[in-house]
Amino acid sequence: MSESPFLNQLATELSERESKSLYRRRRVLDSPQGARVMCNGCEVLNFCSNDYLGLANHPSVVAAAQQGAAEWGVGSGAAHLVAGHFTPQHTLEERFAAFSGKPAAILLSTGFMANLAVIPALLGRGDAVFADKLNHASLNDACQLARADFKRFAHNDVAQLERLLAQSDAKRKLIAVDAVFSMDGDIAPLAQYLALAEQYDALLYIDDAHGFGVLGEGRGTLAELGLDSPRIIYMATLGKAAGVAGAYIAAEQVVIDYLINTARSYIYTTAAPPLLACALHASLDVIEHDKARRERLLSHIRYFKQFFATELVDAPCELLPSDTAIQPLIVKDNATAVALSQALLDAGLLVAAIRPPTVATPRLRVTLSAAHSDDDVKLLCREIKRVLMAAEQG
Ligand code: PMP
Repeated sequence: MSESPFLNQLATELSERESKSLYRRRRVLDSPQGARVMCNGCEVLNFCSNDYLGLANHPSVVAAAQQGAAEWGVGSGAAHLVAGHFTPQHTLEERFAAFSGKPAAILLSTGFMANLAVIPALLGRGDAVFADKLNHASLNDACQLARADFKRFAHNDVAQLERLLAQSDAKRKLIAVDAVFSMDGDIAPLAQYLALAEQYDALLYIDDAHGFGVLGEGRGTLAELGLDSPRIIYMATLGKAAGVAGAYIAAEQVVIDYLINTARSYIYTTAAPPLLACALHASLDVIEHDKARRERLLSHIRYFKQFFATELVDAPCELLPSDTAIQPLIVKDNATAVALSQALLDAGLLVAAIRPPTVATPRLRVTLSAAHSDDDVKLLCREIKRVLMAAEQG
């Protein structure tokens, strides 16, 4: 025990977490991201990264980063508005705007920062934000930071959202949702949200962290659903399917200009290194032109779902209905989630156990990638079946 009650309290809280199977430990990887990674000295098959297209270690993206470092150095040296906005970033914003069918776009250093940029910039006291209860933590934090009225509706509950909008007398209204839910893998009813945004004069902010690169021929969930409107503010993160880091927001010119002028997590931070924008140019080339990569991922998703529907009908778990790369397997309790994840790791497969407070119901979160081969996905299915059956018998 230390002499500080403060430090002792922290230690007590951590041991309470440990006793509930909620203590979090990091894994140190000793290889680049990919279908196979080195973990604790062993090679394991990796089913928990968000590198959906296998671009994090793609030769042309790596080469573009190297070339970018040679040409632009490694640091940006200043914030975008001071002296840290470079040509590759500027041209990348133009490309992302065009790719998303929007007049303008702006790059942020991470998706978390993008959410923190947009919502507090657009809303303040007297305004209201309407958010799905399963939105990502960064969206929740952004909504709290905005000091606007923070109204949450049950997951995908269009009727409840409509009631909240109808009751609201806020000056500005913003509906803010994940397009693909990061822990459930399902897609928000965005067409209905857009109709409500029109009816109640709101804007619609969409966090497409998990749809960009995968859905809608790579353009994301809006393209998948055929939606477009000046009321939509679109955000995609670039550390997942794009394989690098960062995020972009695409919207009407006036929204982007407003963010450049007022968004605090954009203005008061050192710009990301320009070499990342160089890597992202190469990554966008792959997303635009290498359709086979996306097809492979979609075929893995179909196979995985089909396996569960046919081979694991009576298994002691529930596969949530998801058509995306995120396939969540709900299990009985935290300890089961941890035990199954460990049993899979013992068999050479890395699958994350996700527990409260990240989610309400503990689960294994399988993420599939174009980097996996058909045999990798078949092995995953066989091993999940084996460890589930063993757990049931044990
Ligand atoms: N939004 C969603 C839905 C996410 O899943 C994540 C990342 N887990 C983020 C935002 C944050 O993005 P980034 O990792 O680029 O900060």
